[in-house]
Amino acid sequence: MRDHYDVIVIGGAAAGLSAALVLGRSRRSVLVVDSGEPRNARAAGVHNYLGREGASPAALGAVGRDEVAAYGVEVTTGRIVAASATDGDGVDPVGFSVSLESGAVVTARRLVVASGARDVLPEVPGLAEQWGRGVVHCPFCHGWEIRDQRIGVLVTSPIGAHQVLMFRALSEDVTAFVTDLALVDDTTLDGFAARGVAVVTGPVTSVVSDGERLTGVSLASGEFVALDALAAASTVEAQVGFLAGLGLEATDQFMGDHRFAGALTVDGAGQTSVRGVYAAGNVAAPMATVIASAAAGTQAGAALHGDLVQADLAVALAARAAA
Ligand SMILES: Cc1cc2nc3c(=O)[nH]c(=O)nc-3n(C[C@H](O)[C@H](O)[C@H](O)COP(=O)(O)OP(=O)(O)OC[C@H]3O[C@@H](n4cnc5c(N)ncnc54)[C@H](O)[C@@H]3O)c2cc1C
Repeated sequence: MRDHYDVIVIGGAAAGLSAALVLGRSRRSVLVVDSGEPRNARAAGVHNYLGREGASPAALGAVGRDEVAAYGVEVTTGRIVAASATDGDGVDPVGFSVSLESGAVVTARRLVVASGARDVLPEVPGLAEQWGRGVVHCPFCHGWEIRDQRIGVLVTSPIGAHQVLMFRALSEDVTAFVTDLALVDDTTLDGFAARGVAVVTGPVTSVVSDGERLTGVSLASGEFVALDALAAASTVEAQVGFLAGLGLEATDQFMGDHRFAGALTVDGAGQTSVRGVYAAGNVAAPMATVIASAAAGTQAGAALHGDLVQADLAVALAARAAA
């Protein structure tokens, strides 16, 4: 690892590696720092990724790391714990310093933030252990794999009713577990009835598995309901706390009433509110899929390179004028 790079990419999964790829191919010196915890790590396969359909997240990441390394990009395992702006080099007054958990400090002319988002799960015993396997959240990511099976949907937030109908499109055997009737109005319940969705009210007290596979849920009444899969909504939070020193603008995003917390504000090219800091993937678009995150990374990397081309020009013109 050097002391200084053109670009430091924070996070080395779909978004970060895609930005690194376009930057490496543009002959920029690039360091990718990645703590190795992509959001979909628990899933067996990545779906809706044309060309690599069903590849495991780990396999896709390994291919990506090899591909960027072929263009001279350095990828290091580590966690960035802080970042701040520097004065740049005078003619180009934009620059950054990042601190790694290891104690290392590295500087760069520009940053790409691709640190993703984390899922805060409903607090039901046994649910976290099955997350990404027997407990799913996204019909596009996991739906095909559980088609025609016994699917429960935990309605603990306003998005739950929507999830019920999405999973009902994949199986005729869907049960909505409504923890709080205030989350569903009569129209919604009519819709469930019309689509043949069973409704169970009251809290689910635990998600039960046989040690490997989810087998069902237990209710406060003591009843056990056998299931093959349970859909649940997480609270999605952008991973940005460690970047407080940059003063990046962030806003909540919404799908209906469901909140995605603290996503970085970016323009169409991935430029954040702080000049020279770009962001891509779930950290700026919490609902983006893997392929959409990769595309955003490519876009941000390309825009950042264009930004550096202009900065290089300004430096060259200043040197020429001084000669
Ligand atoms: C269970 C599950 C299954 C999913 N399945 C699919 C699917 O099949 N298809 C699909 O399209 N989408 C799927 N998704 C959505 C998918 O996970 C996201 O679209 C994708 O991960 C976003 O990519 P990203 O690069 O923005 O972030 P991430 O993949 O989350 O990568 C962020 C990276 O940044 C690193 N990082 C974070 N903070 C730091 C730091 N401070 N320093 C250094 N590194 C850091 C993390 O370790 C991680 O490696 C799934 C999501 C979940 C939860």
